[in-house]
Amino acid sequence: MSPIKLVVIAILLYIGYRLLIGDWKKKGAEKSEQHSDIPRSEKVADVLVEDPVCHKLVPRQQAIRLKHKKDIVYFCSEKCCDLFVSQQGDKE
Ligand SMILES: [Zn+2]
Repeated sequence: MSPIKLVVIAILLYIGYRLLIGDWKKKGAEKSEQHSDIPRSEKVADVLVEDPVCHKLVPRQQAIRLKHKKDIVYFCSEKCCDLFVSQQGDKE
């Protein structure tokens, strides 16, 4: 066997090895991407907010939103929202 053949075999083995590892790494990356696919903002948005009327804690995504002055106020229900608005007096 000539030394050139050995070198060619070594290169082929190396390329095959790299392809194998590359493919494997790709799959690993895809998997981890799927894991991180859950948006973190969604988790953050699932924060509990306090209803200022009945002081119940409500998940922000389900809460009734009301823009009050510069803030956004969250309520457990439209009833609380209405109550809050009526409690705010005649302003606006
Ligand atoms: Zn409420």
